[in-house]
Amino acid sequence: MGYIEPAPIKDKENPLQSMMSRFDAAARLVGISDEMYDILKVPARQVIVGLPVTMDNGSIRVFEGYRVIHSNILGPSKGGIRLDPAVHLDEVRALAAWMTWKCAVVDIPYGGAKGGIACNPREMSAGEIERLIRAYTVQMLDVFGPDRDIPAPDMGTGPREMAWIVDEYSKAKGMTINGVVTGKPLVLGGSLGRTEATGRGVTVAALSAMDKLRMNPYRATAAVQGFGNVGSFAAELLHERGVTVNAVSDISGGYYNDRGIDITAALAYRNANKGTLEGFTGAEKITNEELLALAVDVLVPAAKEDVITDENAHTIQARMIVEGANGPTSASADEIINSKGIMVVPDILANAGGVTVSYFEWVQNRIGYKWTLDRINRRADRVMKDAFDRVFETSQKYKVPMRLAAYMVAIEKVASTYTYRGGY
Ligand code: NAD
Repeated sequence: MGYIEPAPIKDKENPLQSMMSRFDAAARLVGISDEMYDILKVPARQVIVGLPVTMDNGSIRVFEGYRVIHSNILGPSKGGIRLDPAVHLDEVRALAAWMTWKCAVVDIPYGGAKGGIACNPREMSAGEIERLIRAYTVQMLDVFGPDRDIPAPDMGTGPREMAWIVDEYSKAKGMTINGVVTGKPLVLGGSLGRTEATGRGVTVAALSAMDKLRMNPYRATAAVQGFGNVGSFAAELLHERGVTVNAVSDISGGYYNDRGIDITAALAYRNANKGTLEGFTGAEKITNEELLALAVDVLVPAAKEDVITDENAHTIQARMIVEGANGPTSASADEIINSKGIMVVPDILANAGGVTVSYFEWVQNRIGYKWTLDRINRRADRVMKDAFDRVFETSQKYKVPMRLAAYMVAIEKVASTYTYRGGY
C-alpha cells in the first residue's frame, strides 16, 4: 500500500476550497478573460462508473469510481487514484485541478487529472482490491493511455495497484504498455529515485529560498513536521546539506534537540519501531503545536493538510515555510503569515518533485531506456530549481507572495497554451 494521506476533515476549513480561492485571486491578477476563466475552471472530462465486484464471500458489491480530467491543454493528463470511503466527485474534481497547476508550475508537459473509488481498502482483502482495480481499469480503457491520461498512486494505492492496471490495460491492448501509469514497481518500469523525489524536491526548494534570503545552510536551523515519506527524506537531505534539524515529529508527537536531531539515528529508530518515532530518546518530547512555533529558520510541514490556520499562524516564528504536504496552510492563515514577512514556498511548487520524477518514469518507459539515479536526481533538481526561480521572479515582479506567484505562473502557462491551440 502507498502512503495513506488523511482525508479532509469536514468541520475544518476545506483545503480544496482554499486552493480554489487562491486560484481565483491569481486568475484576477493574471488578468485572464471571463471566458478563459471558465475554460480553466471547468473540467474537460468527468467519468463516473459502476464497478460490480465479487467479494470473497461470493456476494456482489457495486462500487462507484470516478476519473476527472481537469485539463489536457498542456499534454496528457496526470494524477493519482485514491481508494477511500470519503471519495466523491467534487473532491476528485478539485484534486484534478490541483494537478493541472502543479504540473504547469514545474513546466512538465502534462495536464491534470484525478481518480478515485469510494471504498474502504482497509476492510477489503487483496483479492477484492485487485478485482476492483481491474474492473475500474476496464471501465477506463478509453480514458487511460500513455498519450491520453496517466494515473499514479494516491491515498490507498501503491505500486501493487499500478501493476494490476498495467496488466489489465496491456491485456486489453494486446501488448505491454507500462507507460500507462507511473509509480510502478521497479521491475515493471518504475523509476529509480521516485521514493525520495518529493522530499528531495522540498530540500531543493528550501535551499533555493535560503539562497534568496542570503541564509547560509550551515548556519540555518529547521523543524520538520511529519516523518513519513516526504518529511523523513526532507529532514535527511537538509541535514546532509548542512542544515541543523532541531525538531522532527510524527503522529506520536514532536522531538526537539537544540544541538540538532541525529537524523540517521531517528530514521534507524523509526524503521525498527513499526514506522513511528514513539519512544525516540535522542531528543526532548514536545507537541506538534510547539514544533510549529519553534524559532527556526525553516519550517517544513510535511504531514497533512490544514495544520497552520488562523488560530495558530500568529505563533509561527520561522523565517520561511516550505510546504511538503498538500494544503498544510489554510487560506485564512495566508494573510497572517504574509503580514509577518514569512516566505512561503507553496505546496504546488515545493512538493512537485514527486510528479517530476513520475514524468521521468513515463519518459523512460517511452524511450525504453532506464536512467541512472544520478541522472534522475540531477534533472529533477534542475526542474525544481528552475521552477523556484520562475515563481520567485514573478513574486518580485508583481510584488505578491510566492503562493500567488506560483498560481500565476501556472495559470499564465495553461491560458497562453490554450490561446495558441485555439478552441472550436
Ligand atoms: P506518510 O504517510 O508517509 O507520512 C505522513 C507522516 O505524517 C507520518 O510520519 C505520520 O505519523 C505523520 N502525521 C500524521 N498526522 C500527523 C499529525 N497530526 N501531526 C504530526 N505528524 C503527523 O505520507 P507522505 O507521503 O509523507 O505525505 C505527507 C504529505 O505530503 C501529504 O499531505 C501528502 O499529500 C503530501 N505529498 C506526498 C507526496 C509523495 O510523493 N509521497 C507528494 C506530494 C505531496
